[in-house]
Amino acid sequence: RQGVVVITGASSGLGLAAAKALAETGKWHVVMACRDFLKAATAAKAAGMAAGSYTVMHLDLASLDSVRQFVDNFRRSGMPLDALVCNAAIYRPTARQPTFTADGYEMSVGVNHLGHFLLGRLMLDDLKKSDYPSRRLIILGSITGNTNTLAGNVPPKAGLGDLRGLAGGLRGQNGSAMIDGAESFDGAKAYKDSKICNMLTMQEFHRRFHEETGITFASLYPGCIATTGLFREHIPLFRLLFPPFQRFVTKGFVSEAESGKRLAQVVGDPSLTKSGVYWSWNKDSASFENQLSQEASDPEKARKLWDLSEKLVGLA
Ligand code: NDP
Repeated sequence: RQGVVVITGASSGLGLAAAKALAETGKWHVVMACRDFLKAATAAKAAGMAAGSYTVMHLDLASLDSVRQFVDNFRRSGMPLDALVCNAAIYRPTARQPTFTADGYEMSVGVNHLGHFLLGRLMLDDLKKSDYPSRRLIILGSITGNTNTLAGNVPPKAGLGDLRGLAGGLRGQNGSAMIDGAESFDGAKAYKDSKICNMLTMQEFHRRFHEETGITFASLYPGCIATTGLFREHIPLFRLLFPPFQRFVTKGFVSEAESGKRLAQVVGDPSLTKSGVYWSWNKDSASFENQLSQEASDPEKARKLWDLSEKLVGLA
């Protein structure tokens, strides 16, 4: 049978490109889990995705109620779940003031990490029930959260500290909106921190559930896709210069189509079944298992993050 894959944030950029790549194989039915239903439907059509190869379902990761409703709706559809891709993200690189999710958590970590944490935890049950030969839960990582790379050393550097801000609820007013408890808000750092959370969460899923369930848990850095909507809140000069800088100077540039193929490989390629891995691609577009920074692979931090996140999303 066809596999069923849920991709969050499939209305643009990498998520859309991967949705298209997977749907075109004919082996996958893609559930596009998006906050703007109309935008997603229009984007799928404009990308040339065949009617019937995808379903758009509403999911706003900035609301834990919406995450729970999405899971109920998905279950009611009667579709099995064979792969889940936690791809959606927001990036507020110039923000000096936090914004907040419906549940009152700082937005970057709330959407990129906490919304996906709840989604992954709930949908693990659906993945367990699937009879698909290779079931996978994929969480997008990034080089920017990895301080063992050049890009990861561009200030402000990612760092979760002792997670005191997260423990305090990332509320901003009566505490800190930053995971490490810093007094002032830094949107660029909040994004990088959320990506460390994504990579730590993937590994903690692996440690807790891989052996028992056989599910593959993986993360990836798809390359620098300098043209996506991720950079929409950046200053205009940055948006103008970043794509050519990546293309000609760092040579790390990848097109949306190429990055979509990479993510599609991690979802469906029979050779990428290893669990607990962070995939990257070399200059010849060949995949390899990459090293995470010390912090992004710290098991003690991952466990603490898991426990605190459970409390914040109402699972503990
Ligand atoms: P885009 O901004 O193009 O796509 C992000 C998607 O997330 C959009 O579909 C957006 O929806 C969705 N989204 C944002 N907020 C929410 C929300 N509250 N609920 C549901 N969906 C939401 O960015 P990219 O395609 O570049 O990013 C995709 C992933 O790739 C991210 O996880 C990012 O961290 C990662 N990544 C990207 C890199 C790059 O160079 N671009 C490099 C490394 C990793 P909408 O269309 O409605 O705005």
